[in-house]
Amino acid sequence: MAATKTPEPTPAQCSVCKGTGEVSRTVLVGRKRRAVGQQTGLCLNCLGSGEAPTDQP
Ligand SMILES: [Zn+2]
Repeated sequence: MAATKTPEPTPAQCSVCKGTGEVSRTVLVGRKRRAVGQQTGLCLNCLGSGEAPTDQP
């Protein structure tokens, strides 16, 4: 390798929310847990930052 460029420090995108920081989850109600729709919630993988945690093993 003659020419090596310095890799840009691009933060890894969260694979769970795909960088949005939010995930849509299904809302379940009743004892039969019937799905009534979806709502957006905070991504628990990146805690809403949209970037993949770097301190993971
Ligand atoms: Zn995420």
